[in-house]
Amino acid sequence: MKKLLAQALTGLLIIGVILVGLFFWLSPKNVYKRNAGSASGKLESGYDQSVSGYDTYTFEEASEIFTVDQSLLLVNTEYQIGADYPADIVEYKDTGVLMNRCITDSYAALSSAVMEETGDKLLVMSSYRTYEDQARVLEEEGPDVAAIPGTSEHQTGLALDVYISGFAGAGFIRCDAGQFVNDNCYDYGFIIRYPYGAEDITGFEYEPWHIRYVGLPHSKFIQETGCLFEDYAGLFEIGEYKSYDGYLIGRMPKDNILIPEDADASDVVISEDGLGYVFVTVKTAEK
Ligand SMILES: [Zn+2]
Repeated sequence: MKKLLAQALTGLLIIGVILVGLFFWLSPKNVYKRNAGSASGKLESGYDQSVSGYDTYTFEEASEIFTVDQSLLLVNTEYQIGADYPADIVEYKDTGVLMNRCITDSYAALSSAVMEETGDKLLVMSSYRTYEDQARVLEEEGPDVAAIPGTSEHQTGLALDVYISGFAGAGFIRCDAGQFVNDNCYDYGFIIRYPYGAEDITGFEYEPWHIRYVGLPHSKFIQETGCLFEDYAGLFEIGEYKSYDGYLIGRMPKDNILIPEDADASDVVISEDGLGYVFVTVKTAEK
């Protein structure tokens, strides 16, 4: 009898341990961590230097020759931007909506796709905000809802809060347009920046309405691997190129930017990463 009881207790203990283990294994935070851990395996080794070499530039020199944009800047509570961050802001198609210059074409393509697929007009609730705007939002909405000035991506103009008539905020995901944006924005260079269950890492609850431009092929990579933008830069060794989906991607020191010497200048985009380095994205395949 005692033996039977001991066996039953051992069995219960084992089941308990398995359940607790499963709980941690399946918790979103750990899923994102594992996704980041396996993501670099999806990057193929990059440029074959035996074919041709690199030219070396400083950031200033490279800015004269290649496209420089702000698409890959990391902004969060840890990596803040100052009140004087020079966001490259333009007006979107005479609408009064201000956004970063590098996202306008991609946003136009995304919003026409939404119209085509769902018949709904995608609208922008909030786009570019200055440091002072963000301070005002914080004062009005409080720290549970609004970000501290310097930590909001809206200060870069790279993030848009989108909606359609009748479905804004958390309700956006409950309409076809919201589903379409959340499933397909990655094909247009955007990511859902604050996905479900990642608030411990991103600092924000799930925001299905907040899309952030990072450009191609970075957005596709982030979707395919399920990693967070917080983990993205860390996947790259400084000074090395990786290849993904018809692009070379390298992360370089600002004073020693290596660019394949056979690259066409119009295929190269350079963007600061907010961590002291720059990303170089080189299109290698005809799209
Ligand atoms: Zn937002």
